[in-house]
Amino acid sequence: MTAPDPRWSCYCLQSRDNKCTYVGATVDELHRLKQHNGELQGGARATAFQSRRPWRKSITVHQFGNKSRALSFERTWKNVTRRTPWTCTCNASSSRSVCRRLNALTRAIECYESRHGTKHKNQLLVHCAPDLLKAHGGSTVLKEKLSVLDVCELRS
Ligand SMILES: [Zn+2]
Repeated sequence: MTAPDPRWSCYCLQSRDNKCTYVGATVDELHRLKQHNGELQGGARATAFQSRRPWRKSITVHQFGNKSRALSFERTWKNVTRRTPWTCTCNASSSRSVCRRLNALTRAIECYESRHGTKHKNQLLVHCAPDLLKAHGGSTVLKEKLSVLDVCELRS
């Protein structure tokens, strides 16, 4: 077991042209975003292409409570995305990659629940970019679908 640490979160970034997304986990979202955007040293190779910058947050998941649960969620979210279709019922064709991440999130949360229990799943707090949230039925619909503590608008 790792020590409790409320700062851990997972995030999905969206590239400038909306074509690419990146999923990661961090204790410091702002610092990490600056790294991905090349403003600070230490970004990931997948986010280093200048043409994709600036990256912006599109989905964040909070309240894992410790590092190991956040990292296992990150891994699951990435794996589940590969098995998630590119098609989405929202028809927001400009953001297919982020739609795919959002649709994969449902399955990722189910896996998280089976691994860590309902108690931990019920603590999760999801933030979604306003346009993404609107295209997928709004916070009430998404909260119902994901079955987490709450789904709110992401503030940048
Ligand atoms: Zn969609």
